[in-house]
Parts: sequence; C-alpha cells; structure tokens
Amino acid sequence: MRIAPHLIHPLPVVMPTYGHALKGRFAMWAASLANDLIGFDRNKSNDPHQYLPRGRLIPPEKLKEYVPGYDVHNFSGGVVWHDCQCYNTERLGLSYLLSAADAGADAANYVECTAFLGDAQKVAGIQAKDCFTGEIFDIRAKIVINACGPWVDEVLRKAPKKNSGRRFLPSSAMNIVVRRKLLGSHAAGLPGPYVYRQEGGPVYRGNRILFFVPWRDTTIIGTDHRIYDGNPDDFFPDNMQVESFLDSVNRAYPSADIKREEVSFIHKGLLPMAGANVKTGEVKLEKRFRIHDHIHDDKTDGLITVVGVKYTTHRDVANNIITLVLKKLGRTPPMCRTQDTPVYGGDIDRFEDFLKESLRTSAFNEPITRHLVYNYGSKYKDILSYTKADPFLGETVPGSAEVLKAEILNGVRKEMALKLSDVVLRRTDLGSAGNPGDAALRAAAEVMGGELRWDDRRIQKEIEETKALYPPLN
Ligand SMILES: Cc1cc2nc3c(=O)[nH]c(=O)nc-3n(C[C@H](O)[C@H](O)[C@H](O)COP(=O)(O)OP(=O)(O)OC[C@H]3O[C@@H](n4cnc5c(N)ncnc54)[C@H](O)[C@@H]3O)c2cc1C
Repeated sequence: MRIAPHLIHPLPVVMPTYGHALKGRFAMWAASLANDLIGFDRNKSNDPHQYLPRGRLIPPEKLKEYVPGYDVHNFSGGVVWHDCQCYNTERLGLSYLLSAADAGADAANYVECTAFLGDAQKVAGIQAKDCFTGEIFDIRAKIVINACGPWVDEVLRKAPKKNSGRRFLPSSAMNIVVRRKLLGSHAAGLPGPYVYRQEGGPVYRGNRILFFVPWRDTTIIGTDHRIYDGNPDDFFPDNMQVESFLDSVNRAYPSADIKREEVSFIHKGLLPMAGANVKTGEVKLEKRFRIHDHIHDDKTDGLITVVGVKYTTHRDVANNIITLVLKKLGRTPPMCRTQDTPVYGGDIDRFEDFLKESLRTSAFNEPITRHLVYNYGSKYKDILSYTKADPFLGETVPGSAEVLKAEILNGVRKEMALKLSDVVLRRTDLGSAGNPGDAALRAAAEVMGGELRWDDRRIQKEIEETKALYPPLN
C-alpha cells in the first residue's frame, strides 16, 4: 500500500467460526490477534484510506449480513480481519518494470532463453531468441538469474551442467471470475467439501476453505489446487475441472447458486508444491520462496535460480536476490529502499485526496477517471496527453465503459505491447474479467495495427488468437 497506493487497497475478510477446535471462536480470535501483532506497524502510513483495523469476532447475524443468504445455523459467528487486495496484478508487475527501466534497466519481452553461454564451471550469459523474428543472439552477463517460474527446470536443462535435479514440483491453481457481485464490501472464506478426479486416476475427496472476493463488478473465487504432472505449457483447465470446481463452490455457498455461464474468466497457473496427500488429493504448497546459488548446488558459478510461491513476498524475494548478486560480485549491498520508494505511478500522498482532486479536475466522467487513477496512479495524466492530442483516442473502446483507446496506444508506445493479447490482458483492463467481445477486440486491434502497421490479415489473426485464450468458458 505504501509504494503502490493506487493498486493496493484494504480488504476486510470474514470467516465463519464453528466447533471448539481450530475453527472455533477462541482459536480464530487468537489467530487474528497474532495477525495484528505480526502486522503491528501496518498503520504507519499517514493515509487514512490505508488504515487496517484490528481483527474482531462477530455474531451470526453479522456473518449473514456480510455473506448474504448464507445459512449461519451451524456457525457460532465469524471472525473479521483486514488484508489487502490488488486492483490490477498485471499493472503492478508492469509498474516495477517501468520503474526499473526509469532507473536504467534494459527490459525486453518475447525473448526466450534457448541456451547458456560459458561452461560447467561458469555461466557467462545466455543465448536468446527473438520470438517474433527467430533471430538468435547472445546476452553476456556476469550473473544470470533464472526466474522462470514453472519453467525453471526446463531452462536448467539447457545449462552446461545437466545434473541439476528438480527445483519446481508443479501443482495447478485456478480461480474463477464470476460476473456477479455476490458480496458487499467483505471477502469471505467459506468451508466446503470438494470432489475431483485426476484424469485417468483416482477420485479425491476432502474439505477446504474457498475465498469469495469482491473485485469490481465481479467475484473472484478460489483457489482450486490440484496435483499436476504435465508440461507447464500444456496446463489449461478443461470443462471437467471447471465444473467440478464450480460444484464445490456451490456447496460452500449454496445460496449463491452460480451457473456455468456466469463464469467469465479463469485465472490459472502452476505453483510449486512440497507434496500432496495421496488420499485426499490435497496439495501442500511450498511455504517459502527458495533461492539456489548453483555454485553450491552443482558447482556452477554465475547462475542463480529462484522459485517463488507468493506474489505478496516479491519484494523480499527481490531484496534477497539482489543482495546475493552484489555479494557474489564482491560489492557491499546498500540498504534496501524499496519498501518506501513508490513504484511507477505510486507517487501519491493520500489516495482519497488524490482521487477527489482528479475527479474534480478531470474532463472525463467519474467511472473513467476512477479507472485511470486506479490503474495508472500518479501517471494517469500520461494517458490524458494522448486524448488531448487526438480526441479519437479519448473514446472508450466499444463495449467498455472505461477503457480508453489512448490506453491501447500507450500500451504499444510505452509498455512494449506487441500482441493484441498484451493490451487486452496485461496492459489494460479490457479483458481481465472476461472476453470483452468482438467489437472491443477489433477496435483495440485497429488502434494497435495503426501503430504497428498491421494489415487486415494480421489484425484478424490477433483477434482470433486473443479469443482463443478465453475458451472453454466463452
Ligand atoms: C490462480 C492463482 C492464484 C494466485 N493467487 C495468489 C495470491 O492471492 N497471492 C499471492 O501472493 N500469490 C498468488 N499466486 C501466486 C503468484 O501468482 C506466483 O507466485 C507468482 O506469479 C510467481 O512469479 P514468478 O515471477 O516467480 O513466476 P511467473 O509469474 O510464472 O513468471 C515466469 C516467467 O518466466 C518466463 N519464461 C519461461 N520460460 C522462459 C524462457 N525460456 N526464457 C525467458 N522467459 C521464460 C514466463 O514466460 C514467465 O513470464 C497465485 C497464482 C495462481 C496461478
């Protein structure tokens, strides 16, 4: 919240209490107290918008108010604590890249590591491929950091020394986005049973907590964790997986009665697991990120592999890696300043004041101005500069009440968008909650195509490829 106040906002979460064991009132109260103690300095900011109250117990009537239609008969009440929610995770990642580029880093996308330079004793860089032109070139470096997530092992197979072992044991993770606001201001963690069948394998049964999180006009529900032993490139939840997950969602919150056609998008990926319960299929995720200096792992210098588990720990991960890199280079690491240094767009003193002032002075209506401030923060006027120069860019993309054509162009000019799917999913909000529709995709492709000189065939190809990212749900 301190460094990206436009993207990270407080989120109250409620969870039912029942029985006298771990989910009982006393245990939950103790857990929320521990949470408050660990985060004792959470209210250091002078921005009232960022205030995170202490956790508290609530009676059953209040639980029902926060989770409309929920049958509270079997519950003794609930516990409420405060967490944070990211408004747009893709733009948070991008903000770091834009900050890094401002500080002198060279960023490149659609560049694949195809081999390593150097030998078994010392890695000296990578051989890279431009994924558009196929051109192969070398990037020399004293230290290479392999931060390829689920692909870390695949990348290590290209390293000069092959006997590196397995660093990432994959499990699949999926959240669904439902085009309905099920809850008011509070997210809810609701217990419920699950049943799923591993393809060609056993049926797993168990109980788990599912989180229902209000996000704009939708609800994000998750997370479905399963054992996965395929290739990282091949993971795409099939109909059976989505339907069995939806079944457990409706068992956890029966009155929500979510229909398949209300599921507009899925967030999916692979996470590293420590192991799984072979009877229940319950996945035990790794608890903490791991950083491997290969000089210790397999006596190869100049290569570091990192396996992250949670986005929320990214700043700590980065701090640890940079410290290690500097030490390896024989330099003394300076004090890390990232906990107080605003990311690109995060230069905001008090968020509500900033928003109010922006709404007062903006030439756009409230939803558009809010959307710009929440996505671009203190840099939102960069988008307005396009609209002043060309009123066509001040129009919203057809089918969207908020996304301006200027954002598409900005994605291409300033944020290295090269594919339509980049702007639809990873630069703007256009398709982050579901397929934005043919008219929106065409309009966005035409703005991009005008800048990147796409012909009609290329525009059509980009539209088809982007649409294909949404099946089987749309
Ligand atoms: C459904 C779901 C919900 C989640 N919810 C949360 C949450 O609520 N809170 C939380 O903190 N975390 C959450 N996470 C976890 C979080 O998203 C991950 O921990 C995080 O994305 C890991 O980041 P990473 O940079 O290590 O890996 P990734 O984000 O996987 O990035 C790896 C990158 O390496 C690139 N790459 C692969 N091979 C090559 C190559 N040969 N050359 C060049 N580049 C390559 C890939 O294209 C990719 O961009 C969730 C994850 C999922 C899937």
